Order: sequence, then C-alpha cells, then structure tokens
Amino acid sequence: MGKERPMNATLSIHPAVDNGVTQGEPNFAGGRLTCKCTSDPVIVEIKGNSAHNHLCGCTKCWKPTGATFAMVAVAPRDNVTVTANEDKLQIVDPSATIQRHACKACGAHMYGRIENKNHPFYGLDFIHTELSPQKGWSAPGFTAFVSSVIESGVDPAQMPQIRARLKELGLEPYDCLSPELMDLIAAHTAKAKQAAAA
Ligand SMILES: [Zn+2]
Ligand SMILES: [Zn+2]
Repeated sequence: MGKERPMNATLSIHPAVDNGVTQGEPNFAGGRLTCKCTSDPVIVEIKGNSAHNHLCGCTKCWKPTGATFAMVAVAPRDNVTVTANEDKLQIVDPSATIQRHACKACGAHMYGRIENKNHPFYGLDFIHTELSPQKGWSAPGFTAFVSSVIESGVDPAQMPQIRARLKELGLEPYDCLSPELMDLIAAHTAKAKQAAAA
C-alpha cells in the first residue's frame, strides 16, 4: 500500500500568493485597510507603502480561513490611523508583545502595535495589506516561522512539499525571521548592551 502523501492540491499557502506573487509598486502612496464586516467596517488609513511584507507561520498572526500562512507587513506607527468604527476594535491578548487590534465582529486584525520602547521593532505597526482594496503594496519577500504551522494542525509529513512550494514562489522559508531581520534584532540588542555598559 502506498503511503505517499501528495500535497493536497487545494492546500492554500495564502490566497494572495497561491497564483504567484504580485510585485508591488515602489512609489505606492498607501491606502486603507477594511475589516471583513459588510456593515460599519473598521477602516484604517495607511500613509505610504508597507515594508518587510512576508508570510508568517506562527499561531498568532491573523490569516484568512483556509490559508496555511498569514501575510504580514509593517508601516511606521505614525502613518497608521483608524478612521472609522474604532469602537469595534479590541486587543486580542493585552499581555502579548504585539498588541493586535482586532475587529470584535469579524475577527480581522487591523493593526498590531508594540508599546515597549526598547523593542527592536518599536515604532512599526504590523498590518495585513490583503485587507486593502488598493493595489501596489510591497510584495511579500520571504516566509517566517515555517515550522510553526505544524502547531496549527499541518501534518509534519507535508512540510517538505510546503517548503518546496514556498521556494518555488520565491518566498524563502525560514524557521525564525529572515537573516536581515534577525541581524537587525541582534544589532539592536548589541547596541542596548553597549549603552548599558557605558
Ligand atoms: Zn469587522
Ligand atoms: Zn506571525
């Protein structure tokens, strides 16, 4: 009996990339994010383009139904403004480093904010550009925390195919963040240590 487990043809990495990655526009001026509610949606205006867009396999990032990975980017917090129905937002887990502000009605995460001024990513809000009707947001460039999708119920036997698919899409799979972002965190830590020792 064959014990092969071909990757389910319907397995979705993420709807935004399942048919290939759409490149962004370098001079994109920004746009608005809208939650999934059909009436009185929460609207968040983002000034300027997103940065560091990537897929994430962790269990905390919001993802659409059926997707294996989340797609998450950052924008400077001063460029992120809630312009409608802010009263529908609540923080998913107030004890988490990233305060994820989600719509109480539909569950979409509208922005994640770090309030710890010593955190390497302080000043950057996490956003999901798929919630925007505008096109031109920076394209995802890699995949973070790939092995963590197993915690969300993915069969470990599917991981080789998932990693192969991510490579095929040009979304290099990492089990932490990308080397660029890991270097950024380490540099921040080194600087903080130097400052403490001075
Ligand atoms: Zn909503
Ligand atoms: Zn994540």
